[in-house]
Amino acid sequence: MDANSDFLSNEVVVVGSCMVDFVTYTQRLPSPGETIHGTEFVTNFGGKGANQCIAASKLGVNATLIARVGGDSWGEKYIRNLIKHGVDTSFVLKTNGEMTGIAQICVSANGENQIVIVSGANKTLNTLDIEEAAECIKTAKVLILQLETSVDVAVSALKMCSGISILNGAPYTSEYDPALLTLPTIFCVNEHEASQFAKLPVTNKMEAEKAASHLISMGCKGVLITLGADGAVYAEKRTGNIFYVESPKVESVDSTGAGDAFIGALAYLLVRRTELPMEEMVEAACIVAADSVTRKGTQPSFPDEQILEKLGI
Ligand code: ATP
Repeated sequence: MDANSDFLSNEVVVVGSCMVDFVTYTQRLPSPGETIHGTEFVTNFGGKGANQCIAASKLGVNATLIARVGGDSWGEKYIRNLIKHGVDTSFVLKTNGEMTGIAQICVSANGENQIVIVSGANKTLNTLDIEEAAECIKTAKVLILQLETSVDVAVSALKMCSGISILNGAPYTSEYDPALLTLPTIFCVNEHEASQFAKLPVTNKMEAEKAASHLISMGCKGVLITLGADGAVYAEKRTGNIFYVESPKVESVDSTGAGDAFIGALAYLLVRRTELPMEEMVEAACIVAADSVTRKGTQPSFPDEQILEKLGI
């Protein structure tokens, strides 16, 4: 453990992935079997776990990542990138003989994207790593997980958590464990994942509300379904509360990572703005996520603390 690690100050702890994003910008997305010319190519640091951790850290919260990178040069570069963003990397391990995870991303001129990921070292993150980080997870105010690492890893970390937990059910996995729905405080998915987990169509606000209620009946304590430009739906078992929040209208440049900006912001609010009602938190998370959509890339597009001043929170 590094000297900068302090269990007592664990505000947000993220268990998840580190991916290097190879991003191609095109006029439109290619059809299957089609080759098209791109307009630009860039390499960015990504992966849902690291993205969500950095999104929270950029807003000023104390954030720790539990993850694995490869023994290749990208692994070392990735750790330096996390440190640059103020993330505690005490539990970011290197797996020798494995490549750092990668994501091949294509972004069209209207901001739509297509993504293929190769997990690499992320799939070597295991339950022993979670045991090693047990103290850190147990003392987290907010624990965040996704499904780019194994279901076993997510479930074992969720079982340890005594604070608020957010499971981002992305990408959808057929390797389903009911604990993924029943253990987290908030089960957060986009409309596609919501449809896959609930086995219901989710193409608009009304269908999202139905899917959220259905996920509550399947055992979720809280459900958040993000609907891209259309905002988000939240449902809560304890109170029976269900509401819809609009996202601000913005000029979309690149929606990649909008969901990660949303979750990072929500975690920040759950730690630092506990007095706010859930509806205001979801509204604020939508504003932060919408802001990220106006800039290219994932981590570079996440806003910093200045947006909180603009929001007056
Ligand atoms: P990703 O997988 O790219 O990280 P996602 O599919 O998980 O994204 P979305 O539902 O697309 O997540 O977006 C999350 C939130 O971001 C939305 O609830 C909304 O607040 C905001 N958002 C996304 N796209 C737009 C947009 N075009 N205009 C305004 N807000 C947006």
